[in-house]
Amino acid sequence: MNLIDTIKKAGIVGAGGAGFPSHVKMNAKVDTIIVNGAECEPLLCKDKEMMKNFAEEIIGGLLLTTANSSAKCGIIALKSKNKEAIEKMNEIIAANKLDGRIKIHIIGDYYPAGDEVVMVSDVLGRIVPPGGIPLNVGVIVSNVETFYNIFAAYKTSAPVTDKFLTIAGEVEHPITLKVPIGVKISDIIGLAGKTLVSDPVYMSGGAMMSEIVYDAETPITKTSSGYIVLSAGHKFIQRKTQKPAQFKKVGKSACDQCSYCTEFCPRYLVGHQIEPHRVMRTLLMSSQNDPLITKWASGCVECGLCGFYSCPEDLLPNFMCASAKRDAIAGGLKFEAKKDNLKAHPMAQYRKVPTKKLINKIGLGGYNDHAELNLIEIKPESVTILLKQHIGQPAEPLVSIGETVKKGQLIATMAENKLGADIHASIDGTVSSIRKDAIIIKAV
Ligand code: SF4
Ligand code: SF4
Repeated sequence: MNLIDTIKKAGIVGAGGAGFPSHVKMNAKVDTIIVNGAECEPLLCKDKEMMKNFAEEIIGGLLLTTANSSAKCGIIALKSKNKEAIEKMNEIIAANKLDGRIKIHIIGDYYPAGDEVVMVSDVLGRIVPPGGIPLNVGVIVSNVETFYNIFAAYKTSAPVTDKFLTIAGEVEHPITLKVPIGVKISDIIGLAGKTLVSDPVYMSGGAMMSEIVYDAETPITKTSSGYIVLSAGHKFIQRKTQKPAQFKKVGKSACDQCSYCTEFCPRYLVGHQIEPHRVMRTLLMSSQNDPLITKWASGCVECGLCGFYSCPEDLLPNFMCASAKRDAIAGGLKFEAKKDNLKAHPMAQYRKVPTKKLINKIGLGGYNDHAELNLIEIKPESVTILLKQHIGQPAEPLVSIGETVKKGQLIATMAENKLGADIHASIDGTVSSIRKDAIIIKAV
């Protein structure tokens, strides 16, 4: 079986972001493949721990994908603070004489180093066009865990049944775990010791770009990378959950057009047409309830930096940009961004936001940012496996209620000729329920 069919059969999707199906992403000819080991979301450690513990597997996955795409080079981009991982990777490269084919690229500890557009610019000096993807400039970028999964699928035909993730924040002992897909937050949170607040909420996927999860019965998916536990009353949670009426009203009265939000915007600095201070200006000149019609928000990736770090007035231009993008979609408006002769800002290298400063600014400075991998076996009573854990269409169930399934068995398949990914049982058990959005397996 060729590599792309192997990846497809294993149900592999991007493990660090929105879950783009890897059999589509990797099925391209490029000159460079980058392993994204930046892990720039504060307090998350799962990529760092994986690179430390599974360097051989990650390099194995990179070698397979570079060969498949005829890439001249595979690059592992990671931060200088990950010394142990760098050492291990270098040892493997030297022992297998991979010099030239596989390189290590050291990046600084800044946010958002893991944004693939920023990464391609920093590592290769190429500018991905607005609205484009790294493939447009001859590059594939994917998360550390994706390469690990590709190697496992190639070596042992193992499908994706488990997920690595970090639990940090208001817990006794931050920890990184390997858990069966479909376990609930409540099944694993105790492995990080006591929860130290009485009103916990869970920031899924980190702090800056997280979705806030209130229900501990929420199941883990192929894209879950970690949970930061905070009190619902934490200042950062309060800021993240501001309602549009509030952030628009305050933004309208307090923005002084200093433009710091733009000057630190990582996409503006790589040369894209995105200027959040102009989005704020549109707000100043329109009624609070009007849609925001502006082209200056369309390139926003909602990294959160302008609102949670840059703005000296503690306004939320990031939310304004997200709101303006939604207004444009609702109004059927498309803004054509400049795509030619893009140039990074001359100050781009000097305006990077150190992760430590960001952590302090958002009030996460007091938490332990070390969460070692513990490969403890997790035996849940049941798992809830969502049918849509990826970009594209939900998978279609192949099992029926009462059926016995084995870990690794295909239980739902991607819709015919549609973008999607296959889904496998993550434990041995019996199918106890099939919902519109999930298959529930009770452990034997
Ligand atoms: S940084 Fe804040 S005050 Fe300055 S222009 Fe942006 S939103 Fe307005
Ligand atoms: S959230 Fe702000 S800083 Fe981030 S891309 Fe959007 S405008 Fe730029």
